[in-house]
Amino acid sequence: MTKSSYTSDAIVALIGDIFLRRGADSYLGEQVTMSEHMLQAALLAEREGAGEDMVAAALLHDIGHYTSEFGENSFADGIDNHHDAAGARVLEGYFPPVVVECVRLHVAAKRYLCATDPHYFSRLSPASVHTMTLQGGPMDAREVAVFAQNPFHLPAIRVRIWDEGSKIAGVATPPFAYYAPLLRRVAMRAAKPG
Ligand code: FE
Repeated sequence: MTKSSYTSDAIVALIGDIFLRRGADSYLGEQVTMSEHMLQAALLAEREGAGEDMVAAALLHDIGHYTSEFGENSFADGIDNHHDAAGARVLEGYFPPVVVECVRLHVAAKRYLCATDPHYFSRLSPASVHTMTLQGGPMDAREVAVFAQNPFHLPAIRVRIWDEGSKIAGVATPPFAYYAPLLRRVAMRAAKPG
């Protein structure tokens, strides 16, 4: 199975299946499951009036914890430190660049925000503080300058803020099925003609 073998419909069906079968996985010491977390992030994006690409980015930002589901057997699921790059790699070619890059940059955005916003660190969950240590801690001045030059850094920061806000137990969200048509539209826009 190669990556490019999926149609837009098929990639969304595959992601829906991952939410269904794996969504109850715990989210690295947080009070919510993986699917609750990603659905809460999508809901925050939607409530803010974000465009469909951004809602998709919020919904998919942690999909890199499930790369083996995409036939990427070389990557272990779960608590790897590179779920950002892994997620971008499985979405590339199926979703628009802004979605792929928000997923790729959502960990870097946390490190950026911790370096540049004095109040941000206090908003992190204990688990998020712990993983950030593994991820390199707050950016240094050179990393901040490089990140700020990235054309996708502002949307990535938005996704990061939704990510941080979507770890609350008991928040009611729509199910994945509610977002599937939106995801299909976003994927269709990215699909190459022919
Ligand atoms: Fe997350």
